[in-house]
Amino acid sequence: MAYEYIKASILDIGFKPWSCDLMADIADIVVVGGGVHGASTAWHLAKRNAGKIVLIEKDAIASGASGWSSAIVRMHYQLESLVKVTMYGREMYGDWENIVGVGESGFRKVGFLVLFPEDEIEHGHSVIKMQQRLGIDARYISRDEISQIEPRLSIEDVAAGAWEPNSGYADGSTVANSFVAAARSLGVEVRIGPEAVGLTTVDEKITGVETSEGMIHAGTVIVEAGFRTSALLAHHGVDLPIVPVRHAIAVVKRTQDFGDIHPVVSDRVARAYYRPEAENLTLLGEHDPLRGPVDEEVEVTKLPQMDEQVSLMERFSRRFPGQDSASMMRGYTGVYDCSPDFQPAFGKVQALDGLFVGAGFSGHGFKLSPGIGKIISDLVIDGSTDMIDVSPFRIERFAEDDLLLGG
Ligand SMILES: Cc1cc2nc3c(=O)[nH]c(=O)nc-3n(C[C@H](O)[C@H](O)[C@H](O)COP(=O)(O)OP(=O)(O)OC[C@H]3O[C@@H](n4cnc5c(N)ncnc54)[C@H](O)[C@@H]3O)c2cc1C
Repeated sequence: MAYEYIKASILDIGFKPWSCDLMADIADIVVVGGGVHGASTAWHLAKRNAGKIVLIEKDAIASGASGWSSAIVRMHYQLESLVKVTMYGREMYGDWENIVGVGESGFRKVGFLVLFPEDEIEHGHSVIKMQQRLGIDARYISRDEISQIEPRLSIEDVAAGAWEPNSGYADGSTVANSFVAAARSLGVEVRIGPEAVGLTTVDEKITGVETSEGMIHAGTVIVEAGFRTSALLAHHGVDLPIVPVRHAIAVVKRTQDFGDIHPVVSDRVARAYYRPEAENLTLLGEHDPLRGPVDEEVEVTKLPQMDEQVSLMERFSRRFPGQDSASMMRGYTGVYDCSPDFQPAFGKVQALDGLFVGAGFSGHGFKLSPGIGKIISDLVIDGSTDMIDVSPFRIERFAEDDLLLGG
């Protein structure tokens, strides 16, 4: 690819091998960001021998949202295209050893249970019908069936439910690091420390990335830098309006008499989720992506506010009676990179040839990362993908005011 071509051309025109130009840092593709998305994309590209790939990460692998993710793996989406992306991810997380072969995903198949209020019954029905048409084991369930699946729940205010027995949760840091290890084993150069400070262009074509440690020349650049993606694009007049929202996670140690692990519960009535961790902990998080302060310094570690944790704890213990005496452990916060329609923007950036993005995951990007990595690698190598129609997710939709509906 470009790397070999540039090297051959330099030698052809008589450059001495010791000429400093040969010291230039040249790659075919630079991926910016070592979260689950950058790591997945780098691995998918390497698997298809896409040339010399360099992944740069300014802090540490999974130091952004990926390392704090609740990493719930479910296939319940209103948009059929996203359901297809999650199906790809679910398969990979569940069979990591055979598909990726390096590291692990930490996937635990505990099931995913949705609790609907009355006014979401119709929404629930249509999602499940579509999931079933796509071959997913998803069921619309009555209150009695909810109680059979999880008898410890109190559900007087719940109208009905949805059940995905094959879903569960994985681990964000493990997945990002495993993708990186797998990418490295296929020749990807992973550089920890350099920060991308700008993109270089000639005649509206990408020519490389300016980093805190020097220039990397490349004809293809993929920016998957979480909420920081926007700033890198803004210099080139490309509008990606993402806000960093700090999200609180409360952690409780369930009471000893609770018994076995519970499924992941998406409580659409109380607008919270409850996700088991290890054998006796539960992570409690807000359902709504904008529940939390916009915070440009979100990378600075902060504990959640006490009232945020108490509110989550109250909702959890109302759902699971008896858990008001569960112990509250140290919580944490992480960033949601929220786009205006809470859906990601990914694919080719039309304004600059050779530039691709994947960002704006708005708090639900973990489960999408295997699929989006595959899609971006298809777009880079083939110019198209057969997984889904990517046009609704184009970055240009924000400037065109053509936002996505549903999620
Ligand atoms: C508390 C919490 C709970 C969540 N729960 C779930 C869930 O249950 N299920 C789900 O699907 N999703 C969930 N998410 C969302 C999911 O974790 C994210 O969408 C996903 O991890 C985003 O991955 P990413 O690679 O795009 O971004 P990140 O993980 O943020 O990675 C971006 C990386 O880019 C690096 N970077 C930034 N700027 C530069 C630069 N200029 N140069 C070099 N490197 C740079 C950063 O250091 C960072 O490591 C949750 C998120 C949080 C915070």
